[in-house]
Amino acid sequence: MCAACLAQGPPSHGKIARVIHVRLDRLRAGQAREDRMCGECTACCTVMAVPAKRKPNRHACEHVKACGCEIHSERPDECRLFHCLWLRGAIEGGEPTRPDVLGVMFDQFTVHNPPGESQVHTLAFELWDGALESTEARAVIDELAQRFGLAVSYRDGRWSEVEPG
Ligand code: SF4
Ligand code: SF4
Repeated sequence: MCAACLAQGPPSHGKIARVIHVRLDRLRAGQAREDRMCGECTACCTVMAVPAKRKPNRHACEHVKACGCEIHSERPDECRLFHCLWLRGAIEGGEPTRPDVLGVMFDQFTVHNPPGESQVHTLAFELWDGALESTEARAVIDELAQRFGLAVSYRDGRWSEVEPG
């Protein structure tokens, strides 16, 4: 989903029938869950920064097309190794909670600072206006924020911090 598509708001497909939860056992997984694939989603190609492509966050990559990445086999490691929390299987709910359907992409990573210190960063990226306010998105945000604290990136460029509660 490119920047132009994101600006149009939620797609018509996909319906979430229940409150979704976070699979804590999948949060630290470095790989995609075997039964999940990005499919039509390209949300991270817009919201994430890709230094290898000199791409800042919230700018559509020059290589993202309607069918996905046009340089897929040669994409940088930053893209190859990135798995959002949905792709890792940490967000319940199947395809209706995929970032391009839910409207929010979640990420978590750890920064290791010597000597022996590490810091967990948990992020939520809003893909279209109001997406953070859905019942389903709020359930995930509240659960992550309560455990880790959360940095929220709004579509208009603002950031806010939600402290663990
Ligand atoms: S946001 Fe997640 S599901 Fe969507 S393309 Fe990126 S890694 Fe795949
Ligand atoms: S290089 Fe490909 S995978 Fe990486 S951000 Fe651009 S379109 Fe997405």
